[in-house]
Amino acid sequence: MLLLIPGPVTTHPSVRAAAAQDYAPWDLSFREMLTQIRERVLAIAGGRPGEHAALPLQGCGHFAMEAVIRTFVAPSGTILVPLTGQYADRLIRLATEAGRQVVTLPVSPTERVDPGAVQAALAADPSISHLAIVYSETATGIVHDAPALAEAAGREGRRVLIDAVSAFGAMPLDIGRLPMVDSVSFTSNKCLDGLPGMALTVARVDRLDAATGRAASWSLDLADVYHHGEQWGLGSHRFTPTAQAVAAFAIALDRFEAEGGQPARLARYTANMRVIYDGVLTLGLQPCLPRTMQGPIVVNVAAPADPAWNLQTFVDQLKARGVLISNFYNTPEPSLRLGCIGAITPDDVHDALRAFAEAMRALGLRNRRAA
Ligand SMILES: *Cc1c(COP(=O)(O)O)cnc(C)c1O
Repeated sequence: MLLLIPGPVTTHPSVRAAAAQDYAPWDLSFREMLTQIRERVLAIAGGRPGEHAALPLQGCGHFAMEAVIRTFVAPSGTILVPLTGQYADRLIRLATEAGRQVVTLPVSPTERVDPGAVQAALAADPSISHLAIVYSETATGIVHDAPALAEAAGREGRRVLIDAVSAFGAMPLDIGRLPMVDSVSFTSNKCLDGLPGMALTVARVDRLDAATGRAASWSLDLADVYHHGEQWGLGSHRFTPTAQAVAAFAIALDRFEAEGGQPARLARYTANMRVIYDGVLTLGLQPCLPRTMQGPIVVNVAAPADPAWNLQTFVDQLKARGVLISNFYNTPEPSLRLGCIGAITPDDVHDALRAFAEAMRALGLRNRRAA
């Protein structure tokens, strides 16, 4: 089955094979593997040993983002969240439920966040301690300029939390050059082409030291994760790890490095995106973004206006042809979210588009323009 979705992604058979075994987390080989994973993702982030630390948590991206908010934002603190789409909305909910205040910045759904607007919003409200930004907004497909936005916050003396869950590994990032960034979070299962199960954050050590006891949570306290690693070794987990996902992630990182790292990954995803973008136009469907705004992670395509259109039937027809896409909408206007990420190539995408054409014929669609 080809998963043409923005996570969890299609994985390579060698990645899945690593999960077909049992592992004991305290076994020295397993500990060595986890130690290396932490060192490898630190390097991918541009983190500097001693200045930054890579912190694993069991679970998914939301867990990492809640942990980051609890660990780095004071309980009375206020966060600025630019309203980029559904994943920004999720940050707001995570922050609010953790008792933090949120100030929002309106953003057009077809434009990138303006660093000047962020700087002005911060200048206007000295109570805001942090900017939280979604690097690649998975709901719209727009990649925002996270480094430029971080610089804007830095000019106002504020701290930055980056949700890079659907960007990390594909989009460039050099946290070593962004001293105002407290943390960058991501998972094993998006642009690093691994299995779901690991949530990771690369964070500043000085901010972790200052955060001891702040999280009001043991499970989601990244300062505790950090100190545990310092005391017991980077290969040690506080609680039972998702061992199979960890082992699979080590193989996914081997593949990442063999492919040529972040630039090569970005090039492959961009090639996938172009095939999807051009392919849906050829099929008479309409991408939601103009080409200039289209990021390389996910292409949103407007649902057709034809009364014969039915998302679940279309999904069933595609599935019968070996392709899975989401059977729900997560944009205000109904749109299909097509992922460009995972262990897939433009050839796979061409195959998927042939399945699209057949599935649309099976539905008897005539009017394929946007509803
Ligand atoms: C996928 C994603 C998340 C978190 O998703 P989980 O389902 O919790 O792993 C967070 N932010 C962005 C931008 C994402 O794409």
